[in-house]
Amino acid sequence: MKLIIHRGTKEIGGSCVELQSKETRIIIDMGMPLVDAQNEPFDSKLLEGKSIPELIESRVLPEVSGLYAGEEKNVGAVLISHPHQDHYGLLRYINPEIPVYMSKGSQALIEASDIFIPTKANLRNVTTFKMREPFIIDDLVIIPQLVDHSGFDAAAFLIEGGGKKILYSGDFRGHGRKGILFEDMIHHPVKDIDCLLLEGSMLGRGEGLYPSEQAVEVKMASIFKNKSNIAFVFCSSQNIDRLVSIYRAAKRTRQMLVIDLYTAYILDSLKDISDKLPQYWWPDIHVFYFWGHRKMLRDNGLDSFVEKCASARIYKEEISRDKKSIVMIAKYNPAFRKLIGYLGDLTGALGIYSMWEGYLERSDFRNPLQRQGIEFETIHTSGHAPERDLKQLVESFKPKCIVPIHTFHPQEYQSLFPNANVHPLNDGEEFTI
Ligand SMILES: [Zn+2]
Repeated sequence: MKLIIHRGTKEIGGSCVELQSKETRIIIDMGMPLVDAQNEPFDSKLLEGKSIPELIESRVLPEVSGLYAGEEKNVGAVLISHPHQDHYGLLRYINPEIPVYMSKGSQALIEASDIFIPTKANLRNVTTFKMREPFIIDDLVIIPQLVDHSGFDAAAFLIEGGGKKILYSGDFRGHGRKGILFEDMIHHPVKDIDCLLLEGSMLGRGEGLYPSEQAVEVKMASIFKNKSNIAFVFCSSQNIDRLVSIYRAAKRTRQMLVIDLYTAYILDSLKDISDKLPQYWWPDIHVFYFWGHRKMLRDNGLDSFVEKCASARIYKEEISRDKKSIVMIAKYNPAFRKLIGYLGDLTGALGIYSMWEGYLERSDFRNPLQRQGIEFETIHTSGHAPERDLKQLVESFKPKCIVPIHTFHPQEYQSLFPNANVHPLNDGEEFTI
């Protein structure tokens, strides 16, 4: 079996891995880069108006023969581990004849996100898999395994073929709402793995501020309990674990949670996959309509969803009146700034930053809000496994070889796993397993 990591040996984002067996070639993940060649944030506007050959030439698309639209198909399947753009964001360029495999939750979240983002995946030819149920692509057997991650319904892949076993960790952690999955994994390790492709997002980043999703919920609840004005929580509406934490903290402290139409739509699209996710029709949730979200839904023929939300709609006058008992999911954009301007006295209002701090460094929006009286605090835990969990996994699985992926620090793997055979690769390098 041959392994080629087309992108991801020395960076986080843009993951694209190829496995070649006797009978087939498969691609695992087709991610959008997060950084460019200069390590600056990747600008997805670079994709606009460019042809596939131009994008390959500029190294935005990895050079993989037989993968893209307009070429003769020579790839058996594409597998997507989870619905984060750095793992699926370039899917729309692949040959539509190639089957794409992903979990039901990934499909639902990607399709819902496509309504709101310019870089759409345009899913075609999707087959959904069930976790733990093997599926076959030519001479390869693939067993998807549900993992705990900030991305919804995320999978690791165990791939067997030609007498070899490969485990692709995908992105994972053990301290989220599904941390039990990690415990289960290390207590029932898959033995005789020839090659473990192991993510290392947290290497060089230090630990997250809070040790677990549970700790995030507890801290938020303690803050909500004593607040004297509105609390804005800046978080990703795709981080479903976090939305649950915020909802639970708000409920526990008798606060009303205000979400926007975008968040309401994302959660609604996942209702058939989990009935435990907070929804707009729940009594303690209200929906605020920003014009932009409403337009995007309408442009996609989803007027009916906007109408359905009407029963939960909250107007700015009501938010202004009930500020003290409101927790609102927020995004910093012109529409939000306009709303803030309407809310009157914001003395004692809280801004809770609940995302990776790297985003904050790139655009510090705290200052203008602090001038309006909003006090800021970061409450966040990472979507990825810290060093101790990576070590635990390796000690339990004892793979014959570890290949670093999804990390800016592949050189740290050998010292982290001194007894393991670590084999760092370069992007595009062929490695025989
Ligand atoms: Zn991820």
